[in-house]
Amino acid sequence: MVDLNKEVQFVKNVGPNRVKLLNKLGIHTLGDLISYFPRNHEDRSVPKKIIDCKDGETVLIKALAVTRVTEMRTRRLSIYRLIVRDETASCTITWFNQSYLKDKFKQGEKYTFFGKIENKNGVFQMKSPVFDENGIDKNTGRIIPIYPLTYNLSQNMIRKIIEAGIDEVYGNLEETLPDYLLKKYNLLEINETYKNIHFPKSNTDFLRAKNRLVFEELLALQLALFRLKEGQVSGEKGIMFDKNVNMQDVINTLPFTLTNAQQRVLKEINSDMEKEQPMNRLLQGDVGSGKTVISIIAAYKAVRSGYQAAIMAPTAILADQHLKNFEKTLNQFGIKCELLVSSITKKNKQKILEKLENGEIDIIIGTHALLEENVVFKNLGLVVTDEQHRFGVKQRAKIVAKGNNPDVIVMSATPIPRTLALILYGDLDISIIDELPPNRKKIETFAISKELEDRLNGFVKKLINEGRQAYIVCALVEDSEDLNLKSVTALAERYKTEVYNEYRVEYLYGKMKAKEKDDIMQRFKDGEIDILISTTVIEVGVDVPNASIMVIENAERFGLAQLHQLRGRVGRGEYKSYCILKNEGHSKVAKERMKVMCQTNDGFIISEKDLELRGSGDFFGTAQHGIPELKIANLFENVRELKLIQEIASRIMADDPLLEKEKNWKLKKLIEDKFTSRIEI
Ligand code: ADP
Ligand code: MG
Repeated sequence: MVDLNKEVQFVKNVGPNRVKLLNKLGIHTLGDLISYFPRNHEDRSVPKKIIDCKDGETVLIKALAVTRVTEMRTRRLSIYRLIVRDETASCTITWFNQSYLKDKFKQGEKYTFFGKIENKNGVFQMKSPVFDENGIDKNTGRIIPIYPLTYNLSQNMIRKIIEAGIDEVYGNLEETLPDYLLKKYNLLEINETYKNIHFPKSNTDFLRAKNRLVFEELLALQLALFRLKEGQVSGEKGIMFDKNVNMQDVINTLPFTLTNAQQRVLKEINSDMEKEQPMNRLLQGDVGSGKTVISIIAAYKAVRSGYQAAIMAPTAILADQHLKNFEKTLNQFGIKCELLVSSITKKNKQKILEKLENGEIDIIIGTHALLEENVVFKNLGLVVTDEQHRFGVKQRAKIVAKGNNPDVIVMSATPIPRTLALILYGDLDISIIDELPPNRKKIETFAISKELEDRLNGFVKKLINEGRQAYIVCALVEDSEDLNLKSVTALAERYKTEVYNEYRVEYLYGKMKAKEKDDIMQRFKDGEIDILISTTVIEVGVDVPNASIMVIENAERFGLAQLHQLRGRVGRGEYKSYCILKNEGHSKVAKERMKVMCQTNDGFIISEKDLELRGSGDFFGTAQHGIPELKIANLFENVRELKLIQEIASRIMADDPLLEKEKNWKLKKLIEDKFTSRIEI
């Protein structure tokens, strides 16, 4: 058997200089080398007649050298030209500054060239192609892998090295998947797999190899996550909250009746809280489904049992809103809530920190400020993070570490399809609020283009005249705050001074000082502003029931999940609400996306559709999720495979949870090799 841990410097074709370059790509061992998968392949196996080549096409041609290479020097560069022809036409081949090519070609000999061809009215030219002598298939003549590369390492070079690596291991790789899985799912064995993922003879060969590797990677990941969860359950002891503290006592004081879904979720949480194992629960519910009240009730239980609770929100506005909601419900029970955000004065902060440490504060609600080292609890028993997709997994861990195995609730409005949730939150149990409070009305959604702008403005005015308020949201321009600011400011000015000059218009953007932001938000909440123009900073959680219309500018630039989040800012009160998607997207997919938004208000359907339409990484923004980087599988593209794998993994775990049976030894080793050390929670 081969030693995959052998250092890459001992592989053929690898000298000391190249070792450094390979290391930069993360390739240290022979195993790394053969697992450095190509980005794509280029089929250089089928030649074209020159006459048939279209302008701009990347093609393989087989042709005779008609001339010798001629050289032409300009001040800046040397140009090398060669005229070639096949039986249909001739073509000029040009290279720049590659003097070694001067003597490479013999007049009358045949060569193959692969590159981009120009066809200007039957005059053919090819610049800087790769080539081979007739009968040699080094750079052409076959399906060639193209690798993701950084500077200084050419495709030719890495290909040669990987080819040497594959030669070395081929036939001697030890199978990593159990036989019974290979047979049952008709998977390619490992030696062919590694050969064909790099150097396939056909597309079919390549796909079989890829299929096996995706299977293997997803299965290992899923099994690792399942085992992690298993480990937690049997792991450290947490807090058993008091069985005599009855959630119903606080529920009875609420101005509304909980929905069935809320009641079910609370039951799950209550039972978790009374158990000795620490709770790790993802609370998922569409925007407006009423997650906040769940966290209030859970916090009540924690505090009444003698512990403190921490609620972490992604923005100061949201934290403040939570504080008000918590106080409204819990003050009457003598529970002390406090806000901790970065804008608080030093003196104030010092006081709060002291009170937190000596237990005078029961519930602390804040932003990232809660993560700071000097935030110390007397006895933290419950951690709630709101809109978790904004927080990294590490941040969750950081706040959890401030308690002694506290219970954890992660609230998310990001409607992730269950399959993905299992992967992304594989370490959490999942509770879903799949029902909106009964008083909600459907938000009427329309997609419109520029021509209807005037009518829309008139409609907004009509609603404001009736006493409502409006949001206008503009797209983030390439994540750049400056550009972003410019676009909001420009738009806001136009709206303020022209379109809506008789109304109270303000605007809000991310980089504004927290205090200014809060101030504007507060005035909007208090009804002192009619129209709030904003970037996506209002996306999360803000609750202004009187706002009944949202206009989204350049809606085509947003992901569906994000549009859905934004839209959730309206339709929170008794008024009929509207969401207008202004868009200039003309592609079929763009139209389809707008259609989805107009047809449904159901976040889960929208996110499934989003996946289907390949909205790529929409759901998650830039947050890290602690999922190890996958080498070949793609969680978005491979959803179907993921479903199958999850079934397989559950079956395996049900039959053999510790992977102790002989038939599963290979799986155990696989997840140890691949994942266990790399998953962070
Ligand atoms: P989200 O799940 O988006 O965080 P919130 O917790 O902000 O939603 O709830 C949205 C609004 O619905 C709040 O004003 C809240 O008071 C209200 N609400 C929550 N549960 C109910 C219910 N069962 N019946 C009526 N209104 C409710
Ligand atoms: Mg919320």
